[in-house]
Amino acid sequence: MSYESAISGHKLRIVDAHVHLYDGNANNHSFLNQKDEFYEALVGDYSALPRSYLLDGYLRDTNSRRVEGIVWHEYLSDDPVKEIRWGQRLAGTSPVPQVMVALVDFLDSRLEERLDIYRSLPNVTAVREHLGWDATNPKRRFAKRPDLLTDPLWQRGLSLLRRYNFKCGLEVFSPQIPDLLKVVRLHPDLGFTIAVLGWPLDLTTAGYGKWHQGLKELSQCENVCADISAIECIFGLDWRSDGVAPWVLSLVEMFGPKRCMFGSHLPISKLSFGFEPLYDAYQQIVAEFSHDEKDHMFRKVATDWFAIPQIEESRTNP
Ligand SMILES: [Zn+2]
Repeated sequence: MSYESAISGHKLRIVDAHVHLYDGNANNHSFLNQKDEFYEALVGDYSALPRSYLLDGYLRDTNSRRVEGIVWHEYLSDDPVKEIRWGQRLAGTSPVPQVMVALVDFLDSRLEERLDIYRSLPNVTAVREHLGWDATNPKRRFAKRPDLLTDPLWQRGLSLLRRYNFKCGLEVFSPQIPDLLKVVRLHPDLGFTIAVLGWPLDLTTAGYGKWHQGLKELSQCENVCADISAIECIFGLDWRSDGVAPWVLSLVEMFGPKRCMFGSHLPISKLSFGFEPLYDAYQQIVAEFSHDEKDHMFRKVATDWFAIPQIEESRTNP
């Protein structure tokens, strides 16, 4: 239990902004069936990841905090529509409010049909596309091409989102932030989620400077919210709090506590130290902020941004 919980006698209330719940028997996630060098290049040795990770396991892992909402993220299945329908059934019966982030491809010729399916599922409130492209490492390339953010056809697809009430996650590596910035500025009426702290690849002082410069400009766009999670993907499975803290604090300083939200990235974060040391570190890093600011970062920002239904008090009292 964290020192804050120990003092108050209450568990910290959280809404977890980034979670993967999946069932390898219901959906096919091929990277879980056999080693995938591309996925390994993103997260490190993931051989210990379970083939299924469901709510009961998640609630056991997060028992040290009071989870009041979960932002479920699609998990690269072979059939994203089948996976999201599965997720909807899960969300429909979950005792913890759960909203979903569905996979999208803005170049897809049947994009509208796909978005209509998502809109028909009550718990889908956001979509995301993986656009990460590492110029120096061919194994760290999620996108089909490096130039999608500047492709007019791709941008036309993105514009379709105006008709839907979905937040939009565009996962990029930090060298792509300048292109992302142009997209965000072109669409002030859409809400963009920045994942993985803007995914810095270069952790040197020079890399920090470039990351900071890009994120600073991005943070000036009011339609952007930052998801602080997957730190093991940036800083390695053996990350240290003192290495992570300056980046997290800079991000919070730039976006402000009312546009930052913490997520566990379970179960991937279990490949590292797991949930409790991670949330202990988060709480320690932002210890100097006011109670209200912390409540925003740990719970309220994600609740509002992803439109998570409020949980009834009686159900959550520990
Ligand atoms: Zn994730």
